[in-house]
Amino acid sequence: MIRRRSEGRGALAPWASRSTDSRGRRIAEAPAPTRSEFQRDRDRIVHSTAFRRLVYKTQVFLNHEGDLFRTRLTHSLEVAQLARSIGRSLGLDEDLIEAIALAHDLGHTPFGHAGQDALHDCMRPYGGFEHNLQSLRVVDCLEQRYPAFDGLNLCFETREGILKHCSRRQARHMESIEPDGVARRFLDGTSPSLEAQLCNLADEIAYNAHDVDDGVRSGLIQLDQLRTVPLVARFLDEAIADHSQLLQTPKRLLAETIRRMLSQQVYDVIDETGRRLDECDPHSADAARACPPLVAFSAGMRQASRELKAFLFQALYRHPQVVETTDRGRRIVRELFDVYRERPDQLPLDFQESPLRERAVADYIAGMTDRFAVREHRRLTGRDIL
Ligand code: MG
Repeated sequence: MIRRRSEGRGALAPWASRSTDSRGRRIAEAPAPTRSEFQRDRDRIVHSTAFRRLVYKTQVFLNHEGDLFRTRLTHSLEVAQLARSIGRSLGLDEDLIEAIALAHDLGHTPFGHAGQDALHDCMRPYGGFEHNLQSLRVVDCLEQRYPAFDGLNLCFETREGILKHCSRRQARHMESIEPDGVARRFLDGTSPSLEAQLCNLADEIAYNAHDVDDGVRSGLIQLDQLRTVPLVARFLDEAIADHSQLLQTPKRLLAETIRRMLSQQVYDVIDETGRRLDECDPHSADAARACPPLVAFSAGMRQASRELKAFLFQALYRHPQVVETTDRGRRIVRELFDVYRERPDQLPLDFQESPLRERAVADYIAGMTDRFAVREHRRLTGRDIL
């Protein structure tokens, strides 16, 4: 039953998304001579401006705090790696997986979640701001690279995977613009493709692991604190039991612990998903969409992952030092918003022309890298916040 394949890319399983069965692009295009539709989406994403900006956007630590911490770009690459590795075992389409994983954070503001919260606050009277909807907006409208259309004109399946969550109100609004589109499933309660489900779970696996790594390497989390987290403690102990010399080299001990933890989570997802697939036995990608979510942790791993997340929340995301710097980021975003709203002439020309000024301001700020936002804030206010 387990589909643990280690050899090269295998044939697609019946439940995989198939590029040849794609529900297509919003604007029809002739097929590419050598690439599948999902490959083409992945390539469009890699060549986009928003993708290149991810390198200077905060994950948890601000970009200028150190060169070795994760950024949105390296995070997205880790999500793609984990998801492809699991997806191959499950017979899923790796190109679609990669496209979704690389695009999933394109809509993130500078300064991580603090930036998004600040922008959402500013945008409350104008429809709010949500990074996940913004990721879709980037690939649907904001990228300007093609003569015939705005955005990247991606396939339905890639866009479906990018829209991870959506309120019912928002879904109704999107459904009125794009009937039977990517927001439909939030109204009829169906699931997204297995490739999309997988990227969502791989995102969680990736950030839990790399935030432990960055947290310890930054000195904000001590290895000993991790002993209180069962999922990490188990692999810390196993690593030391197998290699007692690791006690002398904490860096290697951390790396070995995280490696084991990642492997265990990957195997857990493959096993649990294999079990659910056996139970539901979907004969097509659409049959899989009609099933309850199939890509999942076992109950035990779900609980362990929750505990790790709770620990990270307390120990890292709420750490005074992290809060202090992200609060500065929050202020920068808020003040930038106010300045551009008062003085739209300070926006680039193509943003000035927009009839919805606040949305244009939000789009412009959301696209900024951390360091561009800092520089722009300094230019416009004459003050140094970061
Ligand atoms: Mg992410």
